Formats: sequence, structure tokens, C-alpha cells
Amino acid sequence: MIRTGISTIALAMLLASPGAVAQEKKAPAGAATPAAADAFLKRATKEFEEFSIDDARIQWLYATYINDDTSALVAKSGAEGTEMAVRFALEAAKFDKVSGLSPDTKRQLDILRSGITSPAPTRAGAAAALSKLQTDMQTVYGTGKGTLKGQPVNGSDIEAAMGTNRNPAELKEMWTSWHDNVGAPQRGDYQRAAGLLNEGARELAFKDVGAMWRSNYDMPPEEFAKLTDKLWNEVKPLYQSLHTYVRWKLNEKYGDAVQPKTGPIRADLLGNMWAQEWGNIYDVVAPPGAGDLGYDVTDLLTAKKYDALKMVKTGEGFYSSLGFAPLSDTFWKRSLFVKPADREVQCHASAWNLDNVDDLRIKMCIKVNGDDFVVIHHELGHNYYQRAYNKQPLLYRNGANDGFHEAIGDFVALSITPDYLVSIDLLDPAKVPSADKDTGLLLRQAMDKVAFLPFGLLIDKRPKPWRHVVVVVLPIKRDECAGVDPEPRRHDARLVVSEARNPSTLSCPTPSRRVTSTTLRAPESTASRRARMMGAPVRTTAVR
Ligand SMILES: [Zn+2]
Repeated sequence: MIRTGISTIALAMLLASPGAVAQEKKAPAGAATPAAADAFLKRATKEFEEFSIDDARIQWLYATYINDDTSALVAKSGAEGTEMAVRFALEAAKFDKVSGLSPDTKRQLDILRSGITSPAPTRAGAAAALSKLQTDMQTVYGTGKGTLKGQPVNGSDIEAAMGTNRNPAELKEMWTSWHDNVGAPQRGDYQRAAGLLNEGARELAFKDVGAMWRSNYDMPPEEFAKLTDKLWNEVKPLYQSLHTYVRWKLNEKYGDAVQPKTGPIRADLLGNMWAQEWGNIYDVVAPPGAGDLGYDVTDLLTAKKYDALKMVKTGEGFYSSLGFAPLSDTFWKRSLFVKPADREVQCHASAWNLDNVDDLRIKMCIKVNGDDFVVIHHELGHNYYQRAYNKQPLLYRNGANDGFHEAIGDFVALSITPDYLVSIDLLDPAKVPSADKDTGLLLRQAMDKVAFLPFGLLIDKRPKPWRHVVVVVLPIKRDECAGVDPEPRRHDARLVVSEARNPSTLSCPTPSRRVTSTTLRAPESTASRRARMMGAPVRTTAVR
């Protein structure tokens, strides 16, 4: 997840396709000229910049200290940001038909017009109502607890436990309690927020908020959907093989009563709260011989006495080795690496740039394990990317699109290979797996990266995220929800919800998403969606 000062204002600033917006409102005669457009951009950018830094600070305070006061402040600031963003979008639309605009001006107008993450309706009170709903959901999510053996467990602890626990009854308790305690209470707020977002998107001439979000990939929304379908179909046979193989191994381990030989896989058995990445159960499915990799990153970190700070320093070292300048002193002074003992925080990992220049920070409740070692490399990828574009005009200070932003860190994290672990003195050179272990290494990687694909796809596609989630999913009974099906299309709605990682709409425990895997974290786009819905200030590429 990334957050920036700019983003906090509710402008995603994702690059928008000129064709993405259907019809804009007509400009008043005489008002829309290239000179007027440039003047508007200058004024909007200034107002935006002034607002965004304070707003980012409020967001940061809230995320690192959730209480009644910060909740009220963040809701107020969020409403102001949304109102401003909608106002800019409507004003930008007035210049849509003006000829003679420079490419730069046109691009920036498009960004203002279609890059809003939380498009509240313009009627009085709607932005405040939406912001309050989003803040309330974030608070429930950030402070919620599941249970293990009847004892309360917070989100980051339960997430870690889902990765290591192999007791089906305890896994079921954690998974069910988390979704019941954290998801179900948000249902009403989620439905109301979805209604407001769709209403706001329609005012901006989009079919719904899903279409608005999908318009930000430099192609019309329908082409984007076609492209993702094509890519998915290319890898679908591999996913189905993986699903079948993992189901077989789970059946072998747990028996028919826990995991039948056919049908969906029970989601809580997959080592991840959202069943979106399965690498944590590699030990359960590893084939004999080739599957024995001979090392475990968590064990290596523990043996070398790594703590949260050392893990982040190691991540920085990786980027330094690529030639990037070290992170600033303020990064080390202001970031949050460890869950504080005395207050509630949003543990969901995120990367921030509060002043849109070099006030970079990450916020994580780091645990010393292989998952978080990868997440750190991922989050830092956001930070280095943010810094790389910090001299661009304000409206261009964002990634090419949110997927690209996520890809930077994930791409880098692919380099966490056995050889890399040797180079940082974490792995004994004698323990580097030989070539005959490649099958195991690839399987381990596929369990995170390939398993994630249908999960991520279903969240981001389809023009009716909210209708699907709210209308279709709710009637599903609990038992039907607990599974990851090899043929997700037949169960779109169910998976969409799980993926959306917003438990709020569920009547049953669904794996909401979270990126936690051991390899890279592809997931952010999912998280992004959730974060958007939850009000995460925009431009979120979110969650880890
Ligand atoms: Zn990310």
C-alpha cells in the first residue's frame, strides 16, 4: 500500500484515459478556453498542495494512533478532500471539448476528472457521510479482534497464526471469529458507502465507481477487462493444476472430513487469512525430495537475531546495492515498524510520502518472519518509486498506474533468492538448494504468485463490484463461503468479496485479502480496492 500526501486528498491521480469518461458536462459558453484551463490547473494544484500535506499528517496520526479524536479529524479531513476533488473533477470536465489544449494540460485535466478514488455525490452532507462511513470501517478493521482458543487476538497476530497453525479446528475458529467480529459489523456501513460512491461516480458520468476505477489504465475500461481476461486464460490451466495438487495434499494430510478430494478447498487451510496466497503451507504440500529446500527464511532471521529495524535496514541495503541513495533520517525517525503496546494502530503495511517530496515512511507491525521480510522489500519499493518522481509537477507525482506501483516492490522482491540470502550473510552458502530443487522452489513461488491471480482478478474486474458484493453475495450461506474453487468464475460473487478484503459485506466468513506472502506481494491492487472503499485516501496502492 502506498499513501502520499497527494493521495490523501482523495485524488488518485492515476493516469486516466481520455476515452475513459463517457460524457462530461458541457462547459459554459465563453468560459472554457486553453488559457482558462491552464489557470484552473494552476489554482487547483495550489489548493490541492496546501490541503494535502496537512491531510496526510492527519491520516498518519490516525493510522498510528486510532482513537475518537483522530477518527473525528480524519473523517473531517477526508470529507474536505473529497469535496475538493469532486469540485475539481466537475470543473475539469468543463474543458473536455476545448480545442487547442496542450497535451500536458489535457493530461492533467484527465487526472483531475477521473482520478478520484472516493467520488462522493455533490449534494450537501454526502461527502461528510461517506468519509464518516469510511473512517468507521477503518476503525473497526484496525481495532478488531478474532479469537484463538477463546482468547482475543488482534489482526496482525491472527494473520501470522493463520500461516503457521495446522490445527483445522483452531484455523476455523480464527477465520470465522475474525470475519464474524470484524466483517459482519461493517456490513451496513459498507453497503451505504457503496451506494454513495456509485452515486458520486454517476454524477461524474461513469456507470458506477468500479467503471471509474477501471478507467485509469490508459485504455477504455472494457479493453482493460478484455486484457485481464486474456492474460488470465493463459495461466488458468496452471492455476487449476496447482489447485488440484494442493487439494490432494491437503486431503492426504487432513482426511476427507476436513478437506474432501473434490470441490473447493477449505479457505482456512491455505495458510492465509484471505486464501489469496498459499505459500505458508508449502511444508504441507512439498513433494518428497525436490520439495525439500533445506532452509526457511523465518528460521534464518531468528537464528541471526534479526529484529524489525534490522529487517528494514537490510531492505534499504538491497536498494542501495542497486545504486539508490539511502533513505533519509526522517524515514528512520518517523516510520512505525513495531506495533505499539499502548495504543491501537492500523497494522496493515503501507508506504507513505507525506510531503510529496522526501518525507517517506512505512507503517508496519513487523514480525520477524519470511513474510514480513518480503513485505519490507515491497513497501520500500513504493518509497523509492515515490522519491523517483518527486520532481514531477504535482499532479504527475504518482505511478504510471496503481498496478505499476505495486509491481516495483514485487519485482524487486523476486530477487530474494537463495543467492541473495547468502550475499547478506543470512544463508550458509552450503545450504543453497541445488538445481534439482528447482521444482520445489518454483512450486513455492507459484503457491503465492499463481494462486493470487484469480483472487486479484475477480476483485478488479467486472463492472459491478458493489452490486455483486452486496446483492449477490449476501444470500450465500456460511458453508458455501468456505472454499476456494478451482473454477472461480462460477462463484464470482463469493470470491469477489473475499478478495475485496472487505469483510463487511459478508454474511459468511470470507477471506478478505491481505497481502502477506512470502514471496512477493502481488496483492496490493486488491488491497487498493479495499482501501479505497474503506476510504484510504486515495492513491492507495494499498495494503502491503
Ligand atoms: Zn504495495
